[in-house]
Amino acid sequence: MRVLSVAAEIFPYVKVGGLGDVMAALPKALRRLGVDVRVMLPGYPVLQESLAGLEPVKAYADLMQAGPARILLGEAEGGVPIYLLDHPGLFAEEAGPYDDWDQAHRRFAALSWAAADLAREGEAHGWKADILHAHDWPAGLAPAYLALGPEPRPCSLMTIHNIAYQGNFSPSVLGEVWLPPEAYAVEGAEFMGRLSFLKAGLHFADRLGTVSPTYAWEVQQPGGGRGLEGLLAQRSRDFSGILNGIDTEVWDPATDPHLLVDFDASSLDRRVLDTAALRMELGLEENPVAPLFGVVSRMEAIKGLDLILPNLEHLVELGAQFALVGSGDPNLEKAFLQAADRHPGRIAVRIGYNEGLAHRMYAGADVLMVPSRSEPCGLTQMYAFRYGCLPLVRRTGGLADTVVDAEDHDGNGFLFGPEDPWDLGQAIDRACAVYRGNQTWWREMQARGMALDHSWDISARRYIDLFQEMMDHG
Ligand code: ADP
Repeated sequence: MRVLSVAAEIFPYVKVGGLGDVMAALPKALRRLGVDVRVMLPGYPVLQESLAGLEPVKAYADLMQAGPARILLGEAEGGVPIYLLDHPGLFAEEAGPYDDWDQAHRRFAALSWAAADLAREGEAHGWKADILHAHDWPAGLAPAYLALGPEPRPCSLMTIHNIAYQGNFSPSVLGEVWLPPEAYAVEGAEFMGRLSFLKAGLHFADRLGTVSPTYAWEVQQPGGGRGLEGLLAQRSRDFSGILNGIDTEVWDPATDPHLLVDFDASSLDRRVLDTAALRMELGLEENPVAPLFGVVSRMEAIKGLDLILPNLEHLVELGAQFALVGSGDPNLEKAFLQAADRHPGRIAVRIGYNEGLAHRMYAGADVLMVPSRSEPCGLTQMYAFRYGCLPLVRRTGGLADTVVDAEDHDGNGFLFGPEDPWDLGQAIDRACAVYRGNQTWWREMQARGMALDHSWDISARRYIDLFQEMMDHG
C-alpha cells in the first residue's frame, strides 16, 4: 500500500499548529505498520537545508506560470521519505507557510498539482501512489487535479484538520491555478462566489475525513461547518472522524530532554520538582498548595482564551496561579500581559512560541486549560494527560472525545459546556476544590490520564482500514 500524504507543515521543521505534529507522527506510525507512506511538502528553504540526502526525481519546465520546478526526494528525522517541491519562483522566501497571501493560491496549487502528478505518473525511481492523502486546504486542489485528469488514477482522501481555514480566493485566479473553467461550479470548487481550495478537496476527493468523531458530527450541523455543512452532510457516508494520536517518543516525561526531572506514572512524586522549576523559570511564587493552571496555545478567537480573562482575578483570589505561553491576537496578548503586571508572582505570561517551555508546562502545571470554542481534535490535552496534568476543557470536538469529567466514573479532567466565562469559572472552582480537598482523587485522575494510550498506533490502524477499503471499493 503506497500513500502520498500532502501538507504544508511538518514538525520539527515547519510547524504552525497541530497539523505539523500530525504530519511528523502519522507517517512514522503507518510505516511501522508496513505502509509505504511518503510525505510531500513545499520546498521551504528550512526543509532544503535540513533534510538528508535530497536528490531530484522529477522536473517541470514551468509550474503555475511561476518558472521551473523540481521534486526532490529526501528523508526526515525518523526515516520518513519526503518529497519536496523545489520551486524557486514560489518557495524561495523564508516566511511562515501561510504568510505570503498574494502568492498563496499559486504556491499551494503548485504543491497540489505536483503531488497529483507524482501520485499518478510516478517519479524517476518508479514510485507512485495508490492513495493521495490531502491535509487541509493547501492540499485541497490535489483531489481535484486527480479527479479531473486521466484514468487510471490513485484514490484520494481529503482530511480536514480545521474547517475554519478554507483557502478561499477570488475566482479571477482560476486560470492561474490550472483548473478548467468548468471546475468553478457549485458541484466543484465554487464556494459563495469564491474559489475554495478546501471545498474543491471536499467535492472531488473519493473519501473525506477529519480528526475526531465529535468534530465530524459538529461540522455537519447547521452553522458548524462554516458553510460547508450541507456538502459534508450530503457526503456523510464517505466521511470518517479518526482521532489524532500523539508521538509518544517526543512526548514522554520519562525521557523528555526539556524537563529538569524525568518521571513516569510510578515515580509521580518527582513531578513536584518540575512544578517548582517551572515556577522559578516563570517568576511565580513558590507555593506548593497553590494549584497551577497553565495554557499552551495559539491566541486566536477560536481557542476561547478570552473566556479565561474575566476569571483571572477570581483565580488569584482562590489562591491559584496561572501561566500562559502563546502568541497571536495582539489584543489578547496585551490583556494577558496586563493581568501578569497586576499580579506578579501569581500570573506569568510568555508571548511567543517556545517548544521547551510548552513541554515544561505540561510537566509542571497542575491543570491545562483548553477553553476552545471549536477544537477539531486538540493535542495539548493529550500531552497534558501523558505528563500528569489534568485538562480543563470545553466540551467540543476532540476535547469531548478525550476528556472525562471528574464527576464521572473514570474521570480524568474537568469539562464545561457553554461558551461562557461563568461556566469556565465553575470548572475552575471544581478543580481547585478537588486539588485542595482530595489529593487522593486528584492522584487517581492523574494516574488514569497517564495510563491512556493516545499513541498513533491505534489511529494509524484505523487509517489503514480506511485506505484498504478505498482501494477495494474506490
Ligand atoms: P492547533 O493546531 O489548533 O494550534 P493543537 O492542540 O492541535 O492546536 O496543537 C497545538 C500544538 O502547538 C501543540 O503541539 C502545542 O504544544 C503547540 N503550541 C501551541 N502554542 C505554542 C507555543 N506558544 N509554544 C510552543 N508550542 C505551542
